[in-house]
Amino acid sequence: MRILITGGAGFLGSHLSERLLNEGHEIICLDNFFTGRKRNIKHLLEHPDFEMLRHDVIDPFKVEVDQIYNLACPASPVHYQYNAIKTIKTSVMGAIHCLGLAKRTRARVFQASTSEVYGDPDVHPQPESYWGKVNPIGIRSCYDEGKRCAETLFMDYHRQNGVDIRIVRIFNTYGPRMCPDDGRVVSNFIVQALRGEDITVYGEGQQTRSFCYCDDLIEGFVRLMNQDEAIGPMNIGNPGEFTILELAEKVIAQTGSKSKIIHEALPADDPQQRQPDITEARKVLGWEPTVSLDEGLKPTIAYFDKLLSES
Ligand code: NAD
Ligand code: UDP
Repeated sequence: MRILITGGAGFLGSHLSERLLNEGHEIICLDNFFTGRKRNIKHLLEHPDFEMLRHDVIDPFKVEVDQIYNLACPASPVHYQYNAIKTIKTSVMGAIHCLGLAKRTRARVFQASTSEVYGDPDVHPQPESYWGKVNPIGIRSCYDEGKRCAETLFMDYHRQNGVDIRIVRIFNTYGPRMCPDDGRVVSNFIVQALRGEDITVYGEGQQTRSFCYCDDLIEGFVRLMNQDEAIGPMNIGNPGEFTILELAEKVIAQTGSKSKIIHEALPADDPQQRQPDITEARKVLGWEPTVSLDEGLKPTIAYFDKLLSES
């Protein structure tokens, strides 16, 4: 198949590109390089079935494809708050353009949504049926509400125009090729530990997250995209739940760092708890994560170690 991946030069998009090329597909990677990096896809550029388009999803685009994965959107709070208006435009206009393209070409289209649609949840763990508790006017809203609106657009194009859609709700995912300066907790802690700098835990560090290794997530993406039983939204994530303090301790132990843990102010609207209910993914896709946090941190630390030694 010929497959379009928007945001294909980013952390997850580059892993997805690699996986689909290995399966023998032709990939068109569309990216404006806001948070994506050429180094993420450098090894793919010589591949005869890989094509790179520098383009912004807020402007329309025309390609002939069989499948579309819409991943274009900055994912870390630091990056998506940098230009909040651009973030919401990217989610909403990007979804409209991908859906319009899917309608015309009859391609199946996949939306990378997020656990952020649940906001700071009252229900724990979060099943897909939970509608969430999102602040519509806060500093995270450009991302959370942008993604919620994209889900609405996907469902309406499906109901109104019969567009063949899939929606995944991604929970915090980590691994090699994360951006070292994106401010996300896994990359921040590893970079700080490797540099011997203080590890910045926001608040008391008792808030929780569930961390999924990138290879597990990509396996879930491909299974969801290529089955006919469910369109989603479907949670994909690792139900192992850790406090941020526990994560800091694991990173210190695995890097052997002498870094100290310090506490900084908790950002506004920071969710207290997050854990996916993956009953649906288990049942429909036969999917569950296979890589524990301890195992997944090893290649991630090795990646950052190499990156820092080169810069
Ligand atoms: P990333 O920032 O590494 O990748 C996003 C990519 O989109 C980058 O290559 C960036 O340059 C590109 N992009 C951004 N705005 C664009 C625009 N207007 N036009 C074209 N390209 C644009 O982030 P990621 O972690 O790889 O996330 C990929 C997708 O998965 C995002 O949609 C994100 O919201 C979603 N997601 C990720 C996580 C996670 O933990 N990694 C969690 C939930 C959802
Ligand atoms: N966090 C932290 N120190 C950091 C970066 C993040 O304590 O240097 C916390 C942050 O406040 C949040 C959690 O780690 O509670 C996850 O943050 P991240 O930005 O990775 O993702 P999100 O909040 O979007 O889940």
